[in-house]
Amino acid sequence: MKTFDVYPLFNIEPVKAEGSWLWDKQGKKYLDLYGGHAVISVGHTHPYYVGKITEQLNKISFYSNSVLIPQQTELAEKLGVLSGYADYNLFLCNSGAEANENALKLASFHTNKKKIISFSKGFHGRTSLAVAATDGASMQAPVNKTENIIMLPFNDEAPLEKNFTDDVAAVIVEGIQGVGGVQIPTTSFLKKIEALCKKHNAVFILDEVQSGYGRSGKFFAHQHSGVKPGLITVAKGMGNGFPIAGVLIGPEFKAVHSMLGTTFGGNHLACAAGIAVLDIIKMENLVENASKMGNYLTEALKTIPGVKEVRGYGLMVGVELEIPCAPIRSALLDEYSIFTGSSSDKNTIRILPALNIGKQEIDIFLEAFNAVLSKTLVNK
Ligand code: PLP
Repeated sequence: MKTFDVYPLFNIEPVKAEGSWLWDKQGKKYLDLYGGHAVISVGHTHPYYVGKITEQLNKISFYSNSVLIPQQTELAEKLGVLSGYADYNLFLCNSGAEANENALKLASFHTNKKKIISFSKGFHGRTSLAVAATDGASMQAPVNKTENIIMLPFNDEAPLEKNFTDDVAAVIVEGIQGVGGVQIPTTSFLKKIEALCKKHNAVFILDEVQSGYGRSGKFFAHQHSGVKPGLITVAKGMGNGFPIAGVLIGPEFKAVHSMLGTTFGGNHLACAAGIAVLDIIKMENLVENASKMGNYLTEALKTIPGVKEVRGYGLMVGVELEIPCAPIRSALLDEYSIFTGSSSDKNTIRILPALNIGKQEIDIFLEAFNAVLSKTLVNK
């Protein structure tokens, strides 16, 4: 059997990783400024993280959600305190799409309605309703097309106000659009969503799958705007590579047995990974580091010729170039062994490093980026 060929691949096979660095089979060293799609939060193979998972693996790695799993309670308590949502409840699952799928379902249960508002350039995952709420026709099969999704222009308040009726069950928006090219929702736009959700008895869902877990320099990106969603979805950085995701659920939502469920979600090993990540974020002040290093990186990027705009908060950075970014990313990888990310905007590079990246590593990137960009601009 072969693997199903749905991913374009780099011809690189990493076999070892540490902090912000990877090594391939030939021993070549790479600087990781992408964290495998924003997943690596506390750095590759952090010793505390490896220790916690190993310890758990040697005790019990899995049993289903039909027994007491105190690691779930510990994870929920720690997440509540660190995120500022101690009065919310946590539903654990396995991926970002699954978290959004459950959030949308919960919003529909709660309101007994079925229309969902989502936005242009938004990405919420590849499962049925999550992909329907995603702005990406090539990802949607005929079965995913549903009249329940109302797709509206991002950051545009007038169409939102016009299309918001009492039929709407929920609005879903990313804390910062990631795949869409690191686009920040304005405070005014988020506040408008919040107000309209209140007015029409709809649920405000913040997809923090990519922008959450300290990446933006606050625990959640929406905390830069002072809004309070009813549901918040998390994944990626939550397990530093171990598959774990969750929905933070406001106290007004009533839990009913069997309304949501999963076999693997919240298993012992996943919780051990999730707890280790939260402990490290706290012990090493990684939210503050994301803010500090993000400011340093952003300010430096703005001074580089060929850079049109730098967007984002903390260590979720989009660099829009005056030219397409594909050749720049290739040169960074081929000539300087640096991983960066693309986006759906062909001129925008995404920089999503581990939250404990240091100034020295950022300087290595800045020097290489400057060199590659100026060489490309000269040769144009
Ligand atoms: N939501 C956002 C904002 C994402 O960026 C992603 C993945 O890139 C998802 C949801 C889907 O997450 P997953 O790939 O874990 O299903």
